[in-house]
Amino acid sequence: MNDRIIYLDHAATTPLDPQVLEAMLPYFIQYAGNPSSIHQPGRMALQALDEARERVARVLGANRKEIIFTGGGSEADNLAVKGVALAQRQRGKGSHVITSAIEHHAVLHAVEYLQAFGFEITVLPVDRRGLVQPNDLRAAMRPDTVLVSVMYANNEMGTVQPIAELGTICREHGVPFHSDAVQAAGLLPLDVNALNVDLLTLTAHKFYGPKGVGLLYARRGVPLLPQINGGGQERRRRAGTENVPAIVGLGLALALAEERRPTHAAHCRNLRDRLIDGLLARIPLSRLNGDRVQRLPNNANLSFDCVEGESVLLLLDQRGIAASSGSACTSGSLEPSHVLLAMGLTSEEANGSVRFTLGKDTTSADIDFVLEVLPPMIERLRVVAPCASERAEPVLA
Ligand SMILES: *Cc1c(COP(=O)(O)O)cnc(C)c1O
Repeated sequence: MNDRIIYLDHAATTPLDPQVLEAMLPYFIQYAGNPSSIHQPGRMALQALDEARERVARVLGANRKEIIFTGGGSEADNLAVKGVALAQRQRGKGSHVITSAIEHHAVLHAVEYLQAFGFEITVLPVDRRGLVQPNDLRAAMRPDTVLVSVMYANNEMGTVQPIAELGTICREHGVPFHSDAVQAAGLLPLDVNALNVDLLTLTAHKFYGPKGVGLLYARRGVPLLPQINGGGQERRRRAGTENVPAIVGLGLALALAEERRPTHAAHCRNLRDRLIDGLLARIPLSRLNGDRVQRLPNNANLSFDCVEGESVLLLLDQRGIAASSGSACTSGSLEPSHVLLAMGLTSEEANGSVRFTLGKDTTSADIDFVLEVLPPMIERLRVVAPCASERAEPVLA
């Protein structure tokens, strides 16, 4: 990132680790074979692919055959949701899918797509802290349920769901369980057996790897219909010539993320707590969105009464601070975040939210700078455009 920018938007994407770039470079020109070719350049590429697969499998506690490389997190989510639901229906298992109200659009819209093809959907609510209640999942289970998809950690407010517990319920009912773990990599444990998941999504650009490459872990025996048809790559589960340099980058980035996880999480948590406590103490009528404890170490999502999150972002940007309101996909539109609404915030409260997500290069000086410049910004915005309730005497009452 540009040196003068304080980048606090790591939930949107992260910069590539130079060490990862270094590992990728030879696979663009020097070892540019197609892994499906039988000649030596092809075998070199296949070997790199195998090594990356092995690395990923080790981090997840999985078998290499259970790893499917994709073109990112959205594709892996779509493959999990559509691939399992359609395969299950084909086998006469039913057509009921359960998900949560705070999923990423890659899951929510894939589920909505299934609805158009006759699937029935149950959307689990979250409480005020942003957490799914295991009892709600238990109650939603039906004999014809074919898939449950609940994310590990939320990209907007960082809430961490009780995945292992939800997974146990799915197992009791014999229903495949998918979790979008994109935001968890490098911050939370990813062992698929400890988590009780059958399918798990990751994408490299959220953990200092390249963009446009991700993976789906699919437990052996889980029925899965490919969503991209063509050649026999990825054990016939995802056609297309493998993006070898990107997959090499993903493999190394994930191994590094896992190796550095304890120190990285502690680094982020420490700075995040200073940011949250500092802002709550300095800015009146401010609130933290999402559970304080069941939360990603790098996420601070706050609402400031009577200000628009978008206005705050523009002012922060002028001072070289890059943050976000809602998710990147919804910012720029006037729609309030579906995640914050699902938590019970009003549209006004949701629109007043700002998300800071910290990363490996964030320093305490960066946090100090935010703590210095943000409170007067909020104060100024409130003076220029006071709250509706403070603006005038009620006309009708
Ligand atoms: C970023 C993100 C995705 C999408 O991943 P892409 O690689 O950008 O397609 C999916 N789910 C979550 C939770 C994310 O944060």
